[in-house]
Amino acid sequence: MASVHGETMYIEIRDLTVKYKDITALENIDLKIEGPGLIQVLGPNGAGKSTLLRSIAGLVKPQKGCICINGKDTTANPRLAGRSIGYVAQRPEVSKYSTITVREFLCYSYMIRRQRWPRPPCREIPHNIEPIIHEDILDRKLTELSGGQLMKTYIARSLMYAPSILLLDEPLGPMDPASKLEFADIISMLSKERLVLVTSHDPIILLEYTDKILLLNKRVIAYGRPSEVLREEVLSRAYGRGFREVEYHIHLFDSHY
Ligand code: ATP
Repeated sequence: MASVHGETMYIEIRDLTVKYKDITALENIDLKIEGPGLIQVLGPNGAGKSTLLRSIAGLVKPQKGCICINGKDTTANPRLAGRSIGYVAQRPEVSKYSTITVREFLCYSYMIRRQRWPRPPCREIPHNIEPIIHEDILDRKLTELSGGQLMKTYIARSLMYAPSILLLDEPLGPMDPASKLEFADIISMLSKERLVLVTSHDPIILLEYTDKILLLNKRVIAYGRPSEVLREEVLSRAYGRGFREVEYHIHLFDSHY
């Protein structure tokens, strides 16, 4: 297992089953994911991708099984998982009554995390998030941001804690084409030093940076290099009749490999 900043980074999932009342979201997941690198998590709607990321972040109590982060059991323990993990949800939310700006949100999050109290004047933005947040949105209110700008703000916040593992749930979903390309470069850069898991319905944008693909449909359908997973006979096991929707990706993929 690789290590950057002297830190190990790996996730071990053992026999994990997650249910929401009578709905089984994940079933008997056994997996070891090592970093650094970029892992794309693919699968049809309802396959359990978000549930997997939330489980790794310690936000879900499974019916069965456990998750270890860097050797420590962090199952359903967001505080412990949060020491190594940055997690950004699929649809980050902001109260409509919020009045704080992006700069205040980032500064206060940083200070709270570092437990600096009383709060110093809120001006200091850590340097490691500069590539993600453009200066022009720093003084905008969170409630005034577009979906893509809000996603970038939350990703920037998760990076301020220098996590060794980053979980991004459909980060490219709300972004325009130019932002997607720009952000693909940033994700590639981040995954050189971290283990980055990204859920997606479009594997192509990040494909050239992707080390492995995890194909889910409640269970692990496949986990391996893109050339092993992005094959008709493998994808059809997860997508079934919906497979045609991603068919053109295979042709694109074939042209790359
Ligand atoms: P999508 O691609 O549509 O975002 P996904 O692969 O991320 O889907 P999940 O959001 O993990 O899938 O959902 C997996 C299953 O669990 C779905 O059947 C979903 O309806 C169900 N589910 C997810 N969250 C909840 C919840 N809080 N309460 C009840 N059911 C849930």
